[in-house]
Amino acid sequence: MLDIRTLTLVPITGKDRWQPKRPEKTAMPSAYDVIIVGGGNAAFCAALAARESGAGVLVLECAPNAERGGNSRFTAGAMRVAYKGVDDLVRLMPDLTDEEKASTDFGVYAEDQFYDDLCRVTQYHTTPRLAETLVTRSFDTMLWMRGKGVRFVPIYGRQAFKVDGRFKFWGGLTVEAWGGGPGLIDSLYTIAERNGIDISYESRALELLHGDEGIHGVIARIKGHTDRIAAKAVVLASGGFEANAEMRTRYLGPGWDLAKVRGTRFNTGDGIRMALEIGAMPFGNWSGCHAVGWDRNAPEFGDLSVGDAFQKHSYPWGIMVNARGRRFVDEGADFRNYTYAKYGRAILEQPGQFAWQIFDRKVAGQLRDEYRIKRVTKVTADTLEELAGKLEDVDPKGFLDEIRAYNAAVQTNVPFNPAIKDGRCTRGLPIDKTNWANTIDTPPFEAYAVTCGITFTFGGLRIDENGTVLNTDGLPIRGLYAAGELVGGLFYFNYPGGTGLMSGSVFGRIAGASAGRSTR
Ligand SMILES: Cc1cc2nc3c(=O)[nH]c(=O)nc-3n(C[C@H](O)[C@H](O)[C@H](O)COP(=O)(O)OP(=O)(O)OC[C@H]3O[C@@H](n4cnc5c(N)ncnc54)[C@H](O)[C@@H]3O)c2cc1C
Repeated sequence: MLDIRTLTLVPITGKDRWQPKRPEKTAMPSAYDVIIVGGGNAAFCAALAARESGAGVLVLECAPNAERGGNSRFTAGAMRVAYKGVDDLVRLMPDLTDEEKASTDFGVYAEDQFYDDLCRVTQYHTTPRLAETLVTRSFDTMLWMRGKGVRFVPIYGRQAFKVDGRFKFWGGLTVEAWGGGPGLIDSLYTIAERNGIDISYESRALELLHGDEGIHGVIARIKGHTDRIAAKAVVLASGGFEANAEMRTRYLGPGWDLAKVRGTRFNTGDGIRMALEIGAMPFGNWSGCHAVGWDRNAPEFGDLSVGDAFQKHSYPWGIMVNARGRRFVDEGADFRNYTYAKYGRAILEQPGQFAWQIFDRKVAGQLRDEYRIKRVTKVTADTLEELAGKLEDVDPKGFLDEIRAYNAAVQTNVPFNPAIKDGRCTRGLPIDKTNWANTIDTPPFEAYAVTCGITFTFGGLRIDENGTVLNTDGLPIRGLYAAGELVGGLFYFNYPGGTGLMSGSVFGRIAGASAGRSTR
C-alpha cells in the first residue's frame, strides 16, 4: 500500500494547475431601453412593438441559434383569428387566388363565436377582460404582423374538408403562418434583425434587477458569463414551466413528471419564478395545462426534425382504449380542436399512462398526415382477434368485449359527415361516442400507441390592460411586462386550438408597445 508519509508533495502552480476556461465575454452594450426575455412568437411581437417607439431593444434567447424559437417553432403555425368573411381573409392573405375563393367556403368566425368558444372550453373560467382583448385584437394584430412582413396562408390540409366539390373550413381555425412554426420564427427573426433589434443566444435571464422605483434590468448568464444588463423595462416572454419536471409535479400533480414534452426543452418556468421572487401575483389555472395524445415512444422533449407530428389527433374517427381494453373518453364529444388539449391528461390518468387509438379501413384514408411519419408506434392486423394480440400491454379479452359492444351500439342510420358535428352516435354504452361513430369492422385494422405529451402550462402571472405585471397587492410593477404562455388567467382545463400563438401575438404587441412607451 502506498504510504502518504513517503510522498513528496509538490505544490501545483502556473501552467500545471487546471483551471476552467473562462468563457469569453461578449461585446454587448451594458444597457438597453427594453430587454425581452425569450425568443418565441410572443417575444418577437413584443420586440417589434417596442422598437416602433424608437426604443433600443435586446432579445435574450436562452437556446442556441440552432434551437431558437421556443414552442412557437414547433407549431403548425395555426392561428385562431376572428374574421367577418372572405374579404377580411383577403386582407390577411392577399395571395388568395380567385380559384381558391371560388372553390372554398371559408365561412365566418365572428368575435362572438371566438369569445363563446373560449368561454365554453374553459368552463367559463377565462378572465373576461383578457378574453375580450384577445378576441377583439386578434384580426388587427394579424394585420399588423402582416404589415411587418409575416405571411399567412389558409390551412387547407388540416382544417378543411371537401363537401359536394367545395372545401369547407370547420372548427374556427382557417389561417396559418406560411411555413408553419419554423416559417413564422424565421420570418420574425429576420424582420427583427432588419429593424435593428439585438438578439443574444445562449443567454438565460436569471434574475430581475429591481428596487422601489421598479425594474432596472436583469442578471443573465450569457454564453457562460453572468452579467448585469441595465434596462428601463423588461418584457417576460419566456414560456411556461412545461419542460421542468419538478415544477410540473409540484403544480400539476403526481404523474406529470412522466409526461413527454412536445416542444422546447428551454421553457423551465424561469420568467414566472423571477417575477414571483419579486412579489408578482400568481394567477390562473396553476394545476392545468395543454396536453395531447403523443406517440408513446417519442423522445423526452420535442424533436425539431419531427415538429408536431408525434401528435395523433384523428381519434374522432376511431376509438381509444386503455390497458384494460376499455374506452375512457367520448372521442366524438366535439371537433378535435376543442377536445385534443384536454385528452392528454385523460391518457396520463390511465393505467401505465398510455392508450391505443383504433381505426379500420373505412377511415384510414382520412387520418391526418402525422399518422404516416416513419417514427410511429403502429400495429396492423386483418382480424380484431389478431389486433387484440398485438396491442402491447392491453388485456386482449377486455379489448374484444369492448369493441364488440361498441360496434353493436353505433347508430348506423345517421349519415357520417366529418365537416359537421353529425350526431352519428352510440347508444347505451358507459361512455357514449356522440359524433362520428363508425363501426370498426373492416380490415385491415390499424392501431397507434399514445401517451401524454404536454404542450404548455396554464398558470402564470397577472397582467393589466397594458401588459404590466401586477404584484400581490394588485398594483403594477413598474417596468415589468409579460406576454405569451406565462400570462395566467386565459386558459383553464382546456383550450381552443390555435389560440396560443394568437395570445402571444396580441399580448406581446401590447406588452412591447407599453414597454417601449414607458422608456420615452
Ligand atoms: C408541438 C406543438 C404544436 C403547437 N401547435 C400550435 C399551433 O398550431 N397553434 C398555436 O396557436 N399554438 C400551438 N402550440 C402552442 C404554442 O406553441 C404556444 O402557445 C406559443 O408558441 C407560446 O409562445 P411564447 O412565445 O409564449 O413561448 P415560446 O414560443 O415557447 O417561447 C419561449 C422562449 O423563451 C425562451 N426562454 C425560456 N426561459 C428563458 C430564460 N430564462 N431566458 C431567456 N430565454 C428563455 C425559450 O428558449 C423560448 O425561446 C403548439 C405547441 C407545441 C409544443
